[in-house]
Amino acid sequence: MQKPAVDAGDEAMGRAPGARAGWSRGQWYLWFFAALATALIVHRHVLHWQTDEAVQAASSRLELLGAALHTELARHETLPGILALEATLAAALAAPDDPAAVQAANVYLRRARALVDAEAVYLIDRSGVTIASSNAGQPDSFVGQNYAFRPYFVDAMRTGFGRFYAIGTTTGRPGYFLAAALEAAAAAQGALVVKVSLGEFERTLAAGPWPTLVLDENGVVILASRSDLRYRSLVPLSAAQRATMAATRQYDGKAITPMLSIPESTLAPAEARTSAARQLLGAGSTAVHRDLVKQPWQLASFVGASPGGAVAVVAAAFGFSMIMGMALLLHAIALRRARQRDLLEREDEIQRRIEAGTRKLQTQLEVQAQTEAMLRATTDSAVQAGKLTVLGQMSAGVSHELNQPLTAMRHFAEAGQMLIAAGDLDAADRNFGKIARLSEHMGQIVGHLRSHARKQPGEKTAISVAAVVDGALQLLQAGQNTAINVGVQVDPPDLTVLAQHVRVEQVLVNLLRNAMEASPADEGPCLQAWGDQSDAYIDVRDRGPGVKPEARDHLFEPFFTTKSRGQGLGLGLAVSKMITRELGGDLTAHEREGGGAVFRVRLPRVSAAPMAGPAVNRIATTHER
Ligand code: ADP
Repeated sequence: MQKPAVDAGDEAMGRAPGARAGWSRGQWYLWFFAALATALIVHRHVLHWQTDEAVQAASSRLELLGAALHTELARHETLPGILALEATLAAALAAPDDPAAVQAANVYLRRARALVDAEAVYLIDRSGVTIASSNAGQPDSFVGQNYAFRPYFVDAMRTGFGRFYAIGTTTGRPGYFLAAALEAAAAAQGALVVKVSLGEFERTLAAGPWPTLVLDENGVVILASRSDLRYRSLVPLSAAQRATMAATRQYDGKAITPMLSIPESTLAPAEARTSAARQLLGAGSTAVHRDLVKQPWQLASFVGASPGGAVAVVAAAFGFSMIMGMALLLHAIALRRARQRDLLEREDEIQRRIEAGTRKLQTQLEVQAQTEAMLRATTDSAVQAGKLTVLGQMSAGVSHELNQPLTAMRHFAEAGQMLIAAGDLDAADRNFGKIARLSEHMGQIVGHLRSHARKQPGEKTAISVAAVVDGALQLLQAGQNTAINVGVQVDPPDLTVLAQHVRVEQVLVNLLRNAMEASPADEGPCLQAWGDQSDAYIDVRDRGPGVKPEARDHLFEPFFTTKSRGQGLGLGLAVSKMITRELGGDLTAHEREGGGAVFRVRLPRVSAAPMAGPAVNRIATTHER
């Protein structure tokens, strides 16, 4: 949805928003076809419904028309009988050659026609010849015409009453002929005929939407809403029918053409009507009909197909829109639900992440707390251990510094005892002097340590390098049974530095002892001192193994030693470096050309020699005990 625009959250959750909820093309097609099918079904149903409606309406209309036609015909039914009662008619029949009688009859008939609203009223004698008429004297007068061939005359003469629909042979106008016999001495002497026009009724047929017809007993259209359908038959007439029509001159001068070319015998009347309707109005059309009461006639109406085409199309479009609208609505609902589901899932995811984060944080905090506790415990024990170590190292350092003079003092004291025993009191006195100086020296060391502990630098004075070297050699020699072998060269001999005697001595003792320990038996270390404008340098050299590479970086660190336990404390160089620094100089280590090590002490030089030093430039010094 991605994604539909897709944000990082969606991707993180492996989804494109909307993509999951939106319908596929196939689903849309499905809806489209469903809508189309609905439209077709609706169209079909509406068409049927409309057709049914139309058929229903046509049937109802035929009912009304049938009733109207029946009323129209019934209204004139009794007229001929009533009008025939007139005595003047009988008189005319009795004396057809009497112009007065005939005239009287003519007058009567004219009046009667006007009163009953008939097209014509006329009197026929027993031979069928018209002797008086409402239109006597007019160009189309029936007088003198013989109507013996007309069925209404024949029936009236035979049964007393006759009716017949036909085209007038004299006027050429169609009409409904009603005849009643005039009887005298129980025999029909003639007939009175009333011709009624059905033109008014025919006009009402045309008011409907569909072709409407009145068919006679032969299936010939006698009245029609469309004039082109008048005097046509549904199916071809039989020879007998045609012969009868010719004899009665019913449709005088009219060629009766059939609507269908199929002979009547092969078609049921209903089929014939439907076929005629389809031929006239197209496929799907139908016909409705109604038989008339008291008449062998039929009323028929053709109803065309798709009478409500437009309505059906609108209904189909509506159906289509409804389904597509429903699809859109469902799609929108689906999208909305999916979006809500997405939101919920996202919220859940965020919630899960927050919870996971919180859990992780809690774990981290717990771990941190544990670590801190461990660290605190470790630190406490380390501090404790460190304190003890430092304490041990301090005491070791102190004993290291004091051991030299102590040993020397013991030697001088023992030697003094022996000298006193031997009576050499002078020598013993000198030893006591040396012991006193050594104890003073120790006091100075202790003081120095104390001052160092208090961080109080002692006072610096100009001291002779040769004297300091001498003191250092004496201290070294004091701890040895054999004479130490150290080559010494101080140039100039009065080389003077600004320092503290004891501390420089301490440095030199450390360096010389290391050098002696490193030196091979056959070549002892040597000490060389010289100076430049500002500084004095004291090099202590040996031919030992030199400083090992792995030891080089740590030489001056306190407690660094390569010697075995008890042999070295690793304090000598550290203390020496510290001392030289405090005195304004430095201590550095170098490789010696041809093998061995060189430790160089640098101290600030004092140009004038304030005091005379002891003997210098001794190659080897042997100290008395
Ligand atoms: P310690 O002598 O007690 O070991 P030092 O501080 O005096 O302590 O010396 C530290 C280390 O420096 C020695 O253990 C040794 O490895 C190295 N070292 C000192 N002097 C020399 C030398 N002259 N030649 C070679 N290595 C030396």
